[in-house]
Amino acid sequence: MFTLFNMIPRAFEYYAPASVSEALSLLQKYGDESKVLAGGQSLVPLMKLRLVSPAHIIDIGRIPGLSYIKEEDNKIRIGALTTHHEVETSPVVKSKCMVLSEAESHVGDQQVRNRGTIGGSACHADPAADVPSVLVALDAEFKMTGSSGDRVVDARNFFQDIFTTDLRQNEILAEITVPALPPRSGSTYLKFERGAGDFAIVAVAAAVTLDQAGVCQDVRLGLAGVESIPLRALKAEEALKGKKPDDNAILEAAARASEQSKPSSDIRGSAEYKKEMVKVFVKRALKTALSRVS
Ligand SMILES: Cc1cc2nc3c(=O)[nH]c(=O)nc-3n(C[C@H](O)[C@H](O)[C@H](O)COP(=O)(O)OP(=O)(O)OC[C@H]3O[C@@H](n4cnc5c(N)ncnc54)[C@H](O)[C@@H]3O)c2cc1C
Repeated sequence: MFTLFNMIPRAFEYYAPASVSEALSLLQKYGDESKVLAGGQSLVPLMKLRLVSPAHIIDIGRIPGLSYIKEEDNKIRIGALTTHHEVETSPVVKSKCMVLSEAESHVGDQQVRNRGTIGGSACHADPAADVPSVLVALDAEFKMTGSSGDRVVDARNFFQDIFTTDLRQNEILAEITVPALPPRSGSTYLKFERGAGDFAIVAVAAAVTLDQAGVCQDVRLGLAGVESIPLRALKAEEALKGKKPDDNAILEAAARASEQSKPSSDIRGSAEYKKEMVKVFVKRALKTALSRVS
């Protein structure tokens, strides 16, 4: 049972390293007893509920050089400490990757978006979170820095299970890279939620690219809230690739996405209801993305 007492975290030692190498040394020194803190929007509530009680908090929020958005070689490189608000309002992200900007606009409320970071959302790996479904849909790449150097993994390997990623205890997520969507692309993020600021019942990230003849060259679909990890709806994408995206093809894609989903029944709805909502929201998301192809 939670009481007011539980809303106070256990005592911990606080460190504010000034560099990545200093943070890595602290992680190395304190191992499983330590936890990285970025914006604190997921970690602090968990600590207050005493679901997580690290003895050593390593606040990376003051390390310079981990907050940026850069466009290079048709890719958008985003520093892990870039806040949701900064990603949402970035002109580069809005013009080259609308689906990510829209997903960011749905994260919690303005206060949460001002503090919470894109890297924190990815590392927390809540399957109902907004940004991870976009990162999976777009095959984002994750650069992790550890004492033995950097390594990069793609989204399919990064998200491993509920609240579990490929990030090792002695590593820091440094950067996330997403593709700039090519010309003749349209994209959107649609979230079905009980009220503003809540986590998704289901949500759909969709991006489509058409060729000159209006045939689907590429389709990307990522779903939130329907599995233990953000789901890439590959079978649904196949229903559209190489075809004209008419109503029949869109309905087939929506049905396949629903079949692929394995949601659990919880306070947000029954598994059957969520599967139905996947059908509805994939259809709507594809139509919206197609209407935005320019
Ligand atoms: C009121 C409220 C409403 C919310 N609503 C939503 C919502 O609607 N949709 C949604 O998607 N999310 C929502 N969230 C969750 C939250 O916005 C994100 O999970 C949060 O932004 C995570 O980022 P952070 O920087 O705050 O991470 P933190 O809380 O600081 O850290 C989260 C986890 O990631 C690890 N971590 C963070 N950064 C790094 C890094 N660079 N390297 C290694 N490990 C790292 C931490 O150790 C910790 O385990 C909500 C949160 C609150 C408080």
